[in-house]
Amino acid sequence: MTGASPGAPLANDSLENDMNGDTAQQDEGRPRVVILGAGFAGLSAALALARHPVDVVVVDRHNYHLFQPLLYQVATAALSPADIAAPIRGIVGRFPNCSVLLDSIAGVDRQAREVLTERGRRVGYDHLIVATGATHNYFGNDHWREAAPGLKRIEDATELRRRILMAFELAEMEEDPDERDALMTFVVVGGGPTGVEMAGALAELARYTLARDFRHIRPEGTRVVLVDANDRLLRMFPERLSRKAARALTKIGVELVMNCRVDGIDQHSVSLGERRINTRTVVWSAGVKASDAGKWLGVETDRSGRVPVDPFLRLEGDPRVYVIGDVASHQSTAGKVTPGLAPAAKQMGLYVARAIARHARGRPLGAPFRYRDMGQLATIGRHSAICDFGRVTVSGYPGWWLWGGAHIYFLIGFRNRLVVAANWFWSYLTFGRGIRLITGDIGAKGLRGRNDKVGDEVLEAAAEEGRGQIYKSVPGAVPGAGRFPGTGTAVPGRAVPERANAVSRSQ
Ligand SMILES: Cc1cc2nc3c(=O)[nH]c(=O)nc-3n(C[C@H](O)[C@H](O)[C@H](O)COP(=O)(O)OP(=O)(O)OC[C@H]3O[C@@H](n4cnc5c(N)ncnc54)[C@H](O)[C@@H]3O)c2cc1C
Repeated sequence: MTGASPGAPLANDSLENDMNGDTAQQDEGRPRVVILGAGFAGLSAALALARHPVDVVVVDRHNYHLFQPLLYQVATAALSPADIAAPIRGIVGRFPNCSVLLDSIAGVDRQAREVLTERGRRVGYDHLIVATGATHNYFGNDHWREAAPGLKRIEDATELRRRILMAFELAEMEEDPDERDALMTFVVVGGGPTGVEMAGALAELARYTLARDFRHIRPEGTRVVLVDANDRLLRMFPERLSRKAARALTKIGVELVMNCRVDGIDQHSVSLGERRINTRTVVWSAGVKASDAGKWLGVETDRSGRVPVDPFLRLEGDPRVYVIGDVASHQSTAGKVTPGLAPAAKQMGLYVARAIARHARGRPLGAPFRYRDMGQLATIGRHSAICDFGRVTVSGYPGWWLWGGAHIYFLIGFRNRLVVAANWFWSYLTFGRGIRLITGDIGAKGLRGRNDKVGDEVLEAAAEEGRGQIYKSVPGAVPGAGRFPGTGTAVPGRAVPERANAVSRSQ
């Protein structure tokens, strides 16, 4: 264990001393394990180590653990963010040898055996577990990010929910049929599990949940387009199950565009070679790349930014550093690549916890890590899923129940499990999506979204051109108050002084 760090800005602070110095370890003679990231991998390592004679420090930039597989349900208003996240302190807080640090990783000084954080802390370690996961990969087109957000964080899901629900609200007020069609066209890029789940949930949101909510549009006529560069969806599944998934998606109204590479996403459309789809809402689920761990550790990574590890999940040449979960590039001794999935991340976390516990007891390392494939699942709306367990496959309705049971079982925290189960059941019975909340600034941001050229200038420009409803940031203004498209009738809502707020096209 390293000594107290000179870089600590709050040298007298007790937490700081505890984090930087050797107090706990020297007093009790216990090694300190620092875990970067409280995702599936980091958390499973922390929970397993909590029962061993080591001190554990978990560092994460969020104060919650996120169940990413259900993010798409937050984005499509089926679940609320708190249903799929649990505070990290609430999970590990009951173990006295575990502490939590809310901070972002800025680097790792492997010589000094210290982690550097963005708040300027230096956290010494005896063993380091790097488990900071992955992020979206736009394959060199990072400028698409704003137009086509991905799903990785809670903020992504609530932002997508806002964009999706706002698109329907704006379509309801829109008179121009082309613009209305663009607002009611949703494009999902990437036909992996997230893209398939997102497209299915979007189609069902429009067809069932929103069907009766509007007066001037027919949400069930919404166009959901799923684009993929390959010739089939869900390539990690057997071809037969891919075909089933494609049929189930088509049945609920999703348009599949296969063998097509997206080569442009702009404010108003998605381009696929010669073809253009006019849309105001795009979801990106076409790829992931690892977090910056390679940079922090100063090592070469693979093409996806993942850090190569040895058969024991250690950094080559540095046995005190383990890299696990989505950020690790691991191959079994038979050459099989360990997939970026939650069960793999959990198994890795458990494995390194055991390895460190053995080390602490002076025992040899044990066998190399071996990923146990528990099968794969993907759902398509409320009635269908495909589950591949190798020799056994389940699909359709039974698959959906299996998928639901597995996800509830794996949700962290008893409360979340109960709430998610109850929400699903209720929404299943009623076709309702109770969390249809538009959060954020609907007056300005909602209209700007990613697509509207941005801001009040644009709205003002539109006013000058004499087109469109014009909503200015007038205190108390209700967007849409005034005349309603096509009706010529006043819409209930607080009237806005003078003509600053709403001018209908028919005027
Ligand atoms: C939308 C979506 C759907 C998915 N669906 C499935 C599915 O159905 N089944 C399945 O098995 N897998 C699924 N996955 C993949 C699965 O979620 C990942 O394989 C798993 O989360 C990897 O775990 P991890 O611990 O490596 O990383 P993560 O769970 O991503 O955790 C990384 C942690 O590191 C923290 N972190 C990152 N950078 C920093 C930093 N600089 N400083 C501090 N903290 C940092 C993050 O806040 C996070 O808590 C899905 C993923 C997504 C995004």
